[in-house]
Amino acid sequence: MDRPSVLNRDRSGVDTRSVVAHAAVQSVKVRVLGCSGGIGGKLRTTSMLVDGDILIDAGTGVGDLTLEQLAKIDHIFVSHSHLDHVTSIPFLVDTVCWMRRSPIVVYGIKEVLDILRAHLFNWKIWPDFTQIPDSDKPFMVYREIRIGEAVELAGRRITPIPANHTVPAVGYLLENGRNALVFSGDTSPNPALWKVVNATANLKYLIIETAFSNKERDIAVASKHLCPDMLAAELEQMRASPEVFITHLKPGEGALTMKEITQAAGRWRPRMLENNQEFLL
Ligand SMILES: [Zn+2]
Ligand SMILES: [Zn+2]
Repeated sequence: MDRPSVLNRDRSGVDTRSVVAHAAVQSVKVRVLGCSGGIGGKLRTTSMLVDGDILIDAGTGVGDLTLEQLAKIDHIFVSHSHLDHVTSIPFLVDTVCWMRRSPIVVYGIKEVLDILRAHLFNWKIWPDFTQIPDSDKPFMVYREIRIGEAVELAGRRITPIPANHTVPAVGYLLENGRNALVFSGDTSPNPALWKVVNATANLKYLIIETAFSNKERDIAVASKHLCPDMLAAELEQMRASPEVFITHLKPGEGALTMKEITQAAGRWRPRMLENNQEFLL
């Protein structure tokens, strides 16, 4: 899709852009399929469905989609290789491959794709679907992306942004030329995230993780996640005023962690991200 835009590159290497107003901005719908740090009951791990054909992460929530919905997923953007974010990719590809004409495209930075190749689609944990039925016309392909470089898919612009986690990781900036949504991915304190957030003029939604409560601060630090006091220090760096939603809460600690977040960071009015919640850009 052709869109007149002005691109500037800031020192963090991420494009900051002011998109010139134009007539035909398509609405983009984002549906939360999973936003918990674990499973149990109705809890599902991280995944978001964009317009029915794009996944951002593929945690356990993907399994709630119907077969017909699963078959429509053409693109999967992976934030990092941890199992709670990729576990449904093997099942998804295996389930729908016979229903599709084109391969499912798995996007990630090089380090993440290398881990998926070596440790997941390695013929031992799961077959290598980039070789099935053959490498000329496979059921799945990898596409390498780079931090700060946008992928444009029919009016949806998806840019990997820096994250700071125990393994190579990114978050994502999703835009349609009218509004923007930032997803932090799994991250510990991350100044580079705020450069992106503060350079995104039309930021409507910020989805940011807080995996642990304050009493587990040591675990949060060791596992490179956030706790409420760390989140508050992060939000202090924000100069935008998006709606803020909290993801990746540890099962059984959601209420406590949200209470601590309200105490530490209440002025940003953060709310708990909910399964099946929808956002419109
Ligand atoms: Zn992780
Ligand atoms: Zn995670």
